[in-house]
Amino acid sequence: MEIRITSHLDRKIRAGSSAVSKQFYPQALSEPIFSSSDPLEEEALYSPIKGLVHKYPNRVLWKVTYRCAAHCQMCTRIRQIGTPEGDLSDSDIEAGIEYLRVHPEVDDVILSGGDPLYATASSLKIIAGLATVSSVKVVRIGTRLPVHAPRSMASQQVQNVFRTLKDNASHFISYILVHTNHPDELDNEVLGSLVALRKSGFPVLSQSVFLRDVNDDPDTLERLFKRLYYAGITSYYIYRCDYVKGLEHYVCDLEREREIMTILQARMSGVALPMYVADVAGGVGKIPVPLGFWEVQDPMHCKDYNGKDVRL
Ligand SMILES: *Cc1c(COP(=O)(O)O)cnc(C)c1O
Ligand code: SF4
Repeated sequence: MEIRITSHLDRKIRAGSSAVSKQFYPQALSEPIFSSSDPLEEEALYSPIKGLVHKYPNRVLWKVTYRCAAHCQMCTRIRQIGTPEGDLSDSDIEAGIEYLRVHPEVDDVILSGGDPLYATASSLKIIAGLATVSSVKVVRIGTRLPVHAPRSMASQQVQNVFRTLKDNASHFISYILVHTNHPDELDNEVLGSLVALRKSGFPVLSQSVFLRDVNDDPDTLERLFKRLYYAGITSYYIYRCDYVKGLEHYVCDLEREREIMTILQARMSGVALPMYVADVAGGVGKIPVPLGFWEVQDPMHCKDYNGKDVRL
């Protein structure tokens, strides 16, 4: 994956934010070396149509593009980001809509990628199509554009997407789902763009990932989650970093992650605290990791949603 950065992020790095720098400049690999670039088998097992990932019965992830305003070096899809292979043609989009029409058990569609707000033409077509599928009740827009380039949130193309979501409010509710990892990312401009979305009627959620040497300490995460909480943004997941080839440096010690979340559980409101989950290779579902309140003999060993034994 190429290095790609915005002027907004570059300013933060120049101002001395190593937490931002470490997310956008490649870090040295460290042991163990992971073997798979797609350990969750999104393409191999769960993609019935180009762009769609259908893993849970009622939810579909729709990868609108593989392009993003900036390239996060810890991205779980580093195998794809920045390539044109994820661009969707009109017939790809029609095929996706048709798939959802014949799968009425899917009520929740997550536009993801890549960044759907960085491919607004495709996103607009998909949203218009989703409005014709009566079983779709929720559309979530997974984006990092507010963090990468908050000023782009005001662009006509991006505002068009939000207007179209609102125009279809009788068909589905729309959530905006951002990705934040460190309080340095949340300056007034970034928070302002998120609060503006919330005030215009969208629920705004945030998800984060544990990153070694970036946010693996309780004070940093407390500041991150509280800054979001004070702005009315709900943190809903913090992930264990996936075991993707190339992300070795970012994966934290599991015991340290559990300890941090155990400390934060005591320090913070349940409203402000995300659920700590791991997406385990060979299993289905984001599995909640047990905190330190319980005696657990082997937290690396768990069962997935289907009861299958899996190991972290
Ligand atoms: C995370 C994820 C979802 C959405 O999960 P929620 O718990 O509903 O947020 C859907 N599909 C895939 C493939 C995912 O990885
Ligand atoms: S914005 Fe999201 S999809 Fe794009 S590189 Fe960053 S983490 Fe990956």
